[in-house]
Amino acid sequence: MEVRVQNVRKEFDRFPALHDVSLDIKSGELIALLGPSGSGKTTLLRLIAGLERPTAGKIFFGQEDASEKSVQERNIGFVFQHYALFRHMTILENVSFGLEVRPRATRPSKAEIRRRALELLDLVQLSGLEKRYPSQLSGGQRQRVALARALAIEPGVLLLDEPFGALDAQVRRELRKWLREIHDRTGHTTVFVTHDQEEALELADRLCVMSQGKIEQVGTPDTVYDQPQSPFVFGFIGESSALPVNIERGDIWLGDRPIGISSPEASGAARLFFRPHDIELVEGDAALSGVVASSRRVGGTRRVELDIGGAARRVEIDLPFDHPAGERSQISFRPKRWKLFPPT
Ligand code: ADP
Ligand code: MG
Repeated sequence: MEVRVQNVRKEFDRFPALHDVSLDIKSGELIALLGPSGSGKTTLLRLIAGLERPTAGKIFFGQEDASEKSVQERNIGFVFQHYALFRHMTILENVSFGLEVRPRATRPSKAEIRRRALELLDLVQLSGLEKRYPSQLSGGQRQRVALARALAIEPGVLLLDEPFGALDAQVRRELRKWLREIHDRTGHTTVFVTHDQEEALELADRLCVMSQGKIEQVGTPDTVYDQPQSPFVFGFIGESSALPVNIERGDIWLGDRPIGISSPEASGAARLFFRPHDIELVEGDAALSGVVASSRRVGGTRRVELDIGGAARRVEIDLPFDHPAGERSQISFRPKRWKLFPPT
């Protein structure tokens, strides 16, 4: 099912939680809504589900305007952060529930419901646990049951609101891979809400980055990471540094010296954004140099904080080996990785 969110605004007591949001969700894709707490992710998900009504704008399911459709009519599967399993029901009963409560005309037979529920428990790798109660499962297992339950109704759209948010990091990473595999097998149109950029980058076909009730950028993980369209996206996805610069006749200056890069079409004050791996060490004299302030291990590299003159001019760069504090390093920008934005 394809979902189109068209110029949607949502106010709560005149407080705008979403401003004029438009988003096309393609049939069969896994899209992540990514943003800090309070950016409007849950509100957008609840609007798609039909749990909230837009103040303005429309939501289409396929060609149909879904505005007047109830949650049931929209055929949504929903998984929340906090396990909403029924505690007094077994795992099998939990997964069967959505089919059991269907009106008689569309309800499968008892045997068919059982067959489907067992098949889904197999899909989420919980075969053999169908007679247990939720309290007898780990957090990760409960979220897998919640997903099986959401899939049981064969939803047109699957909505997941920080489904792994309450689990520890190790389990979260496992479930992330696992969800991606399930998605590849079942192909449900899926909207996944998270505030964790690593999770979103790894899991999603496309990211929709949100801030303060607005969409900042939509694109594949590679596009959003490599070509951030705003200072917010630059700062929120991955690591970045920003320097206050001036552009004079196309050359970019930091304080009283040019730093070896240029931008012919720009002029005046700007902010220069770049990532830790967008700077490299050079032999001999370079236009830019810095003094190592600190260094720490990040994965397979060293992340080094360089002081290039004053507290507001510290930058983080990735270097292949350790550098003692106080050492002066000659550095230069890799071509075409940095980006200029207007001053604040
Ligand atoms: P997120 O899921 O990204 O953390 P939400 O969509 O929950 O953000 O909230 C977006 C903004 O809307 C927040 O400022 C939040 O306080 C506000 N908000 C959300 N739901 C309600 C509500 N039912 N009543 C009043 N304000 C709300
Ligand atoms: Mg939320």
